[in-house]
Parts: sequence; structure tokens; C-alpha cells
Amino acid sequence: MTAKLYQQNVYTRSWDARITSVTPHAKAESTARISDTARSASTGIAAASLRGDSSVGDSSVGDSSVGAAFDITLDQTAFFPEGGGQSCDLGMLGPYQVIDVQENGEEVIHTVQLPDGMDGSGAIGPVAEPPQEGMSVHCSLDWDRRFDNMQRHCGEHILSGIFYARCGGVNRGFHMGEDYMTIDISLEDDPTDPGTDRPASIDMDLALECEKRANQVVWSDAPVTVFRFEEREEAEKMPLRKALAFDEDISIVCVGSPENAADCVACCGTHPATAGQVGLIKIYKVENYKNMFRIYFEAGARALADYDHKHAILTDLSNGYSSSIDDFPDKLRAQEEKLAEVKDQLYHTKKALIGKECAALDAVLSGEAPASSQPLQDPADPLLLWPLENLSLDDAFDMAKRYMKKAPKLILLYAKQNTSFILVSAGDPKCGQLVREYASFYQGKGGGNDVSARAIFTSEENAMLFADLLGKHLR
Ligand SMILES: [Zn+2]
Repeated sequence: MTAKLYQQNVYTRSWDARITSVTPHAKAESTARISDTARSASTGIAAASLRGDSSVGDSSVGDSSVGAAFDITLDQTAFFPEGGGQSCDLGMLGPYQVIDVQENGEEVIHTVQLPDGMDGSGAIGPVAEPPQEGMSVHCSLDWDRRFDNMQRHCGEHILSGIFYARCGGVNRGFHMGEDYMTIDISLEDDPTDPGTDRPASIDMDLALECEKRANQVVWSDAPVTVFRFEEREEAEKMPLRKALAFDEDISIVCVGSPENAADCVACCGTHPATAGQVGLIKIYKVENYKNMFRIYFEAGARALADYDHKHAILTDLSNGYSSSIDDFPDKLRAQEEKLAEVKDQLYHTKKALIGKECAALDAVLSGEAPASSQPLQDPADPLLLWPLENLSLDDAFDMAKRYMKKAPKLILLYAKQNTSFILVSAGDPKCGQLVREYASFYQGKGGGNDVSARAIFTSEENAMLFADLLGKHLR
């Protein structure tokens, strides 16, 4: 049986222990879970998924390029095994890196990974020998990871307790993700509390009210106490917010005194000794989820990191507008209004420009105006090439709408800035077919129907060669 130091003193970070058993790690077993943990360890951040979420499918443990792995038990350990909604601790067990910790009955199983290249015979790398029973080892936790877990986990306790007290909401699901945590609050009827003034839903206003209350609990620095009970009957005398799932060896965690608890629930996780150590609780979002309300939030150093991140974004944006953060929304709105005005002006300018181009084109088509000396503009040509200096391909398409089905011959509207054409005709010749058959000769692409098509080229030279080819083909 392993003595569980994390139950005796949650702040134990390093200790001496004796190895009581060593077995080669069974590679096939839960490799997804272990690789998930190992990946989190490599980034120094808490495991992404805690409660039955094994979305990571690849495995590093099964990879022959890394050293052998062993399952080790100790006479005493402060490594918290995965469970109760909290991911396991990582750290060093003697010279060996701990990549996973699981509970198996009375024992805590530490999976260690030998350094790259070691096969267990101990020839390569800084580790002189593989682990052996009876060996004395000095152990140390990755404390940043553990404390991060403690802050987040305790933050979830406090917020869940507040939602329960404020609106009878029961926490039916918990996820500790890499970017945020979520709790799923169900506003179900509670037969033990026939209170009638419960809200029918949770909106952001109510969530922020609960957030404030939760932070008031943090600021009160209420004690966080773990009460252990051998029997269910005794444990049930506590003001629990959730029915017990166990009959014996029950740990009840209370934030504040049991007489006036901010939260009181069965839990085997690790918690700081006082609520103040949670630091900060911040709710980001509320959404409907399967007849429940999913609350997105963060706690502890991560909530501060999120503040830093968002503050940096806001500072950067407001600096870009030569504004203070407070004035930034007004500046942005003013800018948006200005942009709408400019868009409106641009729309009318383009409309006028298109009208002007159409008038000039109509004059050439009808013979009222003499054809210019530009290529493919002679009335004798089977097509008319019409260059557009200041209009885009989309503008050219707007212009083409006036000639679809009624152009006296094929018109090639050439948008110079895009080095591309809109073809438009009365249906003969077939515009789409011409593009499909000839554009690719000059690295062009596009398509369309009988009366209009796009032909897109990467250079003016290729575009003009295409127009020339059409002229020859249609002659
Ligand atoms: Zn807990």
C-alpha cells in the first residue's frame, strides 16, 4: 500500500521514497492516455483533457525511438494520480521522468520513461541503471503544473457552489481544457429544496453575478478543508450539493465552514488550503447545451494570463487607432461610419464610371464613334476588345450584365488591374466554351455560360495572346 502524501500535506513537493515494485510498462495499455499526459508535460501545461476525453490518438510510448517505460510503486508518494476531474501530477522519480500516474486499488502506479536511446540495460544516457525494487529515490513534483491544477480545480468548486446556492443549478459536467474550463449547469428540480424563486435560465448577467460572488469567496480567503469519513451516514450530515457516489472512505471538501459553506462536495482531488490562493475566477461565456447552461471560465494564474493576453490585444488595437483603450470603441465606431460613407461614395463613383464606359462602348458598337486605333476594335473584327483602366474584374462583370444576350458581337471587357477578361455575347459565340477551349493555351483559367464567362490570366502578355487567338479563331 502506498502512503499518500498528497492527502496528508498537499504542499509536499519533494520527498524521499523507496521503490517497492517495478514492472515493464505494458505498451498496449492506454497509450492514448499516456501520450496525452506526456504531451502536456512537454509543454509544461496541465493535461488538456481530464474526464474521459481521450481525443489524442497517437502514441509516443509505443514508439521504439524513445526509451523503455516502467510502472513503479513507492512506499510513499506525493504524485497525485489522475482522478476526480483532476489530471495527474508529473515530475521526477529519482532520475526518471514520470509520464503518468494512476491509482490501482491501494497502490499508486507511476509510469516512468527512460531517456531516449535507453532500452532498459542502462548503457546510454545520463541514467546509469533502470529502476529496481528497493532502490531509494528522491522525488519532486512539477509544482507549477500541480498548483495550476489546484487553482483551476478549486475555482471550479467555488463557482459550482455559487451556482448551486444562487439558482439551484447542479453541475452535471466538467471539462478542464487547454484554453478554458467549462461546467454544465442543470436547473433541474431539487426535491430537497422546493424553492420557487429560481431563475428559468442562466444568462450572462446572472453568470456575472455568480462570478462576483465566487470572487468574493476568493477574497474572503475562506479555508478549504478536507473532511474524511469512513461511512456514508456520517458524510451525509455535511451540507452536500451533490449526492454521494461512494459508501466508504469518503473525502468531503468544504470551502468555508460547514455551517456556512460556499461549496461542500465529495472530491478526492488536490486543493489549496485557502480560497484566496485561487486568485481569480473569470467567466467568459454562457451557452445553451443539451437543456443545460455551459459556463466557460478560467481560474488562477490562467485567468490572469487571459487578462494579459486580451489587454495586449486591446492595447495594440487602440494604439493602431491612436486612442486610449477607453476611447477605442468610439474611435472604432467612428471609423466604421467613415468606412460606410467611403463605400457608398465608391459605389456611386463606380456606377458613374461604368455608365461612362458603356456609353463609349455603345457608340463604337453602333458606329456613332470611330473605332480607335487599338487592336481588335475595328468594326471588321469579329470581336471587340474593350480595356478598362480603373475598373476591377467584378466591375467588368457588372458592366457585362448590360450586354448579355444582346451584344452584336463578342465583347471582351479587359480589367487591366486583374489582367483578366469578362467575355459577353448574345449566345453566339458561346463565351464559356471559348474560355474552356482556349484559355489554358496561355496558362489562363475560368469558365461561364453561353452569354458570359471569366477568363483569368497571370500576365497582360498572356491575356493579349488569348484575345488575339480568339480574333483569329472567329475570323
Ligand atoms: Zn475537488
